[in-house]
Amino acid sequence: MTITLSTRLHDVRGSAIRDLLALTARPEVISLAGGLPGTDLLPRERIAQALATAVADPAAVQYGETAGLRPLREVVAEHESERLGRTMAAEAVVVTSGSQQALDLVARALLDPGDPVVVEDPVYVGALQVFQAAGATLHPVPVDADGMAVDVLADRLAAGLRPRLVHTVSSFHNPRGATLSPPRRAYLAELAERYGFLVVEDDPYGLLAFDGHPLPTPVAAHGDRVVRLGSASKVLAPALRVGWLTGPAPLCAAVERLKQCTDLCTSSLTQLVTAELLADHAWFDAHLDRLRAALHDRAGALTGAVAGVFGDAVTCSVPTGGMFCWLEFTDGTRPADLLPTALDHGVGYVPGTAFAVGQDLSAAARLCYASNPPAELHTAVERLGAAWGASAT
Ligand code: PMP
Repeated sequence: MTITLSTRLHDVRGSAIRDLLALTARPEVISLAGGLPGTDLLPRERIAQALATAVADPAAVQYGETAGLRPLREVVAEHESERLGRTMAAEAVVVTSGSQQALDLVARALLDPGDPVVVEDPVYVGALQVFQAAGATLHPVPVDADGMAVDVLADRLAAGLRPRLVHTVSSFHNPRGATLSPPRRAYLAELAERYGFLVVEDDPYGLLAFDGHPLPTPVAAHGDRVVRLGSASKVLAPALRVGWLTGPAPLCAAVERLKQCTDLCTSSLTQLVTAELLADHAWFDAHLDRLRAALHDRAGALTGAVAGVFGDAVTCSVPTGGMFCWLEFTDGTRPADLLPTALDHGVGYVPGTAFAVGQDLSAAARLCYASNPPAELHTAVERLGAAWGASAT
């Protein structure tokens, strides 16, 4: 049967990463491909306890308000107030089914087909898909070791670009691993004021700084034209499917209206679980400390193994938080070409080309160190080295 699909869909690239996950799911493959927090690091026992507490509340098994259940909105507002250094009301928080839904609803609320949107290059693929589905015209701005090159954006704005919004993964970038430097944060907020665009600060990794020190102030702390997206996925568990956004009141109201069309509300059960875990400060802080320490260990294991195996045939980012390491071959190796051999050797990763919007990223690859313990990471890099050696001969 032929089904005529909407024209909107023509522009939506399937996620190469989601396709790749099928290949790397083979049991013999150690996957550095998915952006998955290690299952062994997820607090399953504490989630089980919180679930038992939550179901005792009749609200847990019922539909809830579209904008989210009060206890969750309150505790998210509390956490956000702490990060922003100013008080945020619970009413300013809209709970979503993962921050991916928040991004989609923001795009649908703000964009008409053809509207210009600035994305980072390399880009978070989930954002690329959302903006393609919205029919936006994409304007990529490169990301370097200090995050988005805001001076490049400034030049484009000075030359006449007028984006409706600028999307940035400001801390521990997916896929580049970089964190937007404090001066760039301030400059981005200033440009947003000057040129009248919104910054969508997509921040699922912000709490995962290895040293546990407060991160550079969020972009949102510098100005009012910032929508912040947060998520329980990387600090509690992706399966909760709980995220949130905070931003200007008219945008939050529009997002709430669109969310009514999409799913009526996010699961009350997992909202209450998330609320309990975020509100248990002593537990949550200790959990975050354990998580950061484990990620730090894994990052060290991966980058150490990469240096040992590849020497100066690659440059490798130095992770200071989050889940990703960005590799660039300096010897002409193209990770997209190497991938089939790597999979045969039992290791998977994502080639940089999957994240490219305008740049040539054919020498790059994203490696996720979060999903596997250090010994597995060592084995994975040895396998990658063997595949690289085999492909060179
Ligand atoms: N933003 C970024 C930058 C991400 O890396 C991810 C998950 N990979 C998301 C948003 C979506 O996360 P979730 O929907 O699970 O909150």
